Amino acid sequence: MCVTVHLVPWDTSSNLLEETNRLYDEAGTFDCIQKGDLVAVKLHVGELGNPNYVQPCFVHDIIRRVKEVGGKPFLTDSNTAYHAQRSNAYDHMNTALMNGFNMAPFIVADGLKSENFRLVKTKGILKEIEVSGAIAEADAMIVVSHCKGHELSGFGGAIKNLGMGCTPRDGKIRQHRSVGLEIDTSKCQGCGKCKEACPQHLPDIIEGKARNTSPLCMRCPVCIEGCPMEAISYTHKENLCRALASAAFGVLSTFKPSKVSYVSFAKDITQYCDCLPNPGKIILGDVGVFASNSPVSIDAAFLSKVDYKVLNEASNVDCMGQVIELKALGIEGEVKPKIKLIV
Ligand code: SF4
Ligand code: SF4
Repeated sequence: MCVTVHLVPWDTSSNLLEETNRLYDEAGTFDCIQKGDLVAVKLHVGELGNPNYVQPCFVHDIIRRVKEVGGKPFLTDSNTAYHAQRSNAYDHMNTALMNGFNMAPFIVADGLKSENFRLVKTKGILKEIEVSGAIAEADAMIVVSHCKGHELSGFGGAIKNLGMGCTPRDGKIRQHRSVGLEIDTSKCQGCGKCKEACPQHLPDIIEGKARNTSPLCMRCPVCIEGCPMEAISYTHKENLCRALASAAFGVLSTFKPSKVSYVSFAKDITQYCDCLPNPGKIILGDVGVFASNSPVSIDAAFLSKVDYKVLNEASNVDCMGQVIELKALGIEGEVKPKIKLIV
């Protein structure tokens, strides 16, 4: 397995569609596809209002290239665990259309209400993980990611696109529950605003203080954002990085070896992830487009090309955690990969 990462710098004095095609040729992006393969093109179609997802023209070209080698491509993503514009297949498909993803069938990987998945055993912090059905059943996959910051995992790239993006609601919640939630009772005024905002009607307010011991808690940020006293915070955020890697391992176990390839766009690198309609400021300069056949190497390559301490400081999590963990689980790749520039 070649784990060299190829990179086209984001230089708009060149035709970037042509340059990315040279990138795919050099990296062998479509070598994982055989004639007749059902090919999942895994992407994030963007939350409405957030303009920083991968631009449709590049995805259009990826679809064209998959067809050229005889694959049957379909766009896919899994529904979100939180209730917004992509939490069921109907809303998700409409969001995909509104954001310009009409170049191939968009199949919501986990079904209408996240009911379609395969439970698989995995390694690492999770013992098992739900993999979205259309991804578990695909013959090959091109993982198209947008590199950006993330409040809980430091950053999101290919590993997060696998671990969180290829799992249904139950799988996402399983990963989120690896993180802790703490309520500082010295700050809590017992106002109940957290309970009003919480989709599970948690936490309980007992003797004028919020308390949350429920196994139903999803570790979503709703109560944290809703608390006027800043009394609620996450703990053990590093566990989510481990959970992402563990889930990613489970997702990859549903594919035969060498059937998954990765393309990552490091442009418009915002503080927060594409799931938010308001992803915050752009905090790092544009880098370019990476291609690799290793999720470990492609994410490590991105982090080596930016000052990722900026992302660490924004989230208080070490971005490299998920990369190191996935390699430790046995997925091939390098935490210091060779990067070949396409110029
Ligand atoms: S919103 Fe904050 S201050 Fe109000 S009850 Fe919940 S934790 Fe306490
Ligand atoms: S993290 Fe907060 S808002 Fe989310 S389910 Fe748990 S208590 Fe409710």
